[in-house]
Amino acid sequence: MIVLLLGSGGREHALAASISRSPLLTRLIATPGNPGIAQHAELKSVAADDVAGVVALARDEKVDLVVVGPEAPLVAGVVDALAEAGIKAFGPTAAAARLEGSKAFTKELCARKNIPTAGFRRARSAEEGHAAVEEFGAPVVVKADGLAAGKGVVVASELDEAHAAVDAIFADPGAEAVVEEFMEGEEASLFALCDGRTALLFGDAQDHKRAFDGDKGPNTGGMGAYSPAPALSHALIERAMAEIVRPTVAAMAEDGAPFVGFLYAGLMLTSDGPKLVEYNARFGDPEAQVVLPRLKDDLLELMLAAVDGKLEGREVDFRPETALAVVMAAKGYPAAYQKGSEIRGIEKAEKRPGVTVFHAGTSIEDGRLVASGGRVLAVSAIGADASEAQMNAYSAVDLIDWPEGFCRRDIGWRAAAASEE
Ligand code: ATP
Repeated sequence: MIVLLLGSGGREHALAASISRSPLLTRLIATPGNPGIAQHAELKSVAADDVAGVVALARDEKVDLVVVGPEAPLVAGVVDALAEAGIKAFGPTAAAARLEGSKAFTKELCARKNIPTAGFRRARSAEEGHAAVEEFGAPVVVKADGLAAGKGVVVASELDEAHAAVDAIFADPGAEAVVEEFMEGEEASLFALCDGRTALLFGDAQDHKRAFDGDKGPNTGGMGAYSPAPALSHALIERAMAEIVRPTVAAMAEDGAPFVGFLYAGLMLTSDGPKLVEYNARFGDPEAQVVLPRLKDDLLELMLAAVDGKLEGREVDFRPETALAVVMAAKGYPAAYQKGSEIRGIEKAEKRPGVTVFHAGTSIEDGRLVASGGRVLAVSAIGADASEAQMNAYSAVDLIDWPEGFCRRDIGWRAAAASEE
């Protein structure tokens, strides 16, 4: 079978590595890809969110299945366009991807189906936003939605800060906001493989969003992750699947927008049980780099079963060990950083047992591997428990010679401490 993978990050490198192990695969093409993905796939130069270009490429190469890694092509409707052209695609339609794209859509679905999440008010004007802030009181969370979604999330401990966040959002005409009750607890994520009706548990993980050790500094796309998440007991996972994920997938099907693909549920583990923080309509990055190395089953076969609506009654099998990934980023990230510095030593790092170095922001210049992004590598290692996985990952990190890069030295601190108890 010929597969076309869309994307160019560490998540897509992890997907490519898993897909390439499938006996069903005859040819893997990736666009635009990166030098790590190139170890498993032929690269093309169509942008992942160039919908017409992707459809033409899939048609020209007689692709049997398109696998969509990142969010942008989903929101751009690449799955819809491929379906119209009669080409199978693993990923949600634009309508189903609203679970990620619109916070208000998801909150309203949760309210309708009694899915546990923070209480919320939708605000279409600054006045409505200020009123909602007063109603909930501090601490309170203010999130931009719709056109202003890029402005992010403010978790405000004081009312003044929350009112300022509302004003900042509505400085843009046409902005919308969601104001939420503050939820207290530890955060963890779980992933579901969905075929439109059935959602199968596809692993769990925790990540570190802040740039610096001690979970300090600015927010990033993710500086590291580990799987499984010790905070998620079997009972909590079952509860989150039963109370949050499965009712969501059922509601989407009822509403005529069945969700096919990976559904990523960000959870807050509160004293009242797991509550939904957010959905993503695709795998996480760097979570894919720790969940996929633990997968025992054939990823390509599972994706095909999902696209064909045949997941009912199945289960996905993972190795019991822990996988932990340390992201290496260019110095300066998430603010301004330099590109073009040379990276050496990846082969040495990958000789260590259970280690894979996933490429995120690399390219080849004059035959040298150089950094070309903010998050550049994810060094992923397996260990019997979190503290062994952590040791294995950092001993591989230390073999990589890249003075212009940095990483956190404490990824998995909480899990490693728990495994040493
Ligand atoms: P992401 O980059 O994670 O996709 P996002 O812009 O989609 O972010 P959310 O995931 O909704 O925004 O929120 C970002 C972070 O803010 C969460 O991971 C969580 O730490 C915090 N947060 C969001 N909502 C709440 C809440 N109601 N109570 C407490 N913390 C919250």
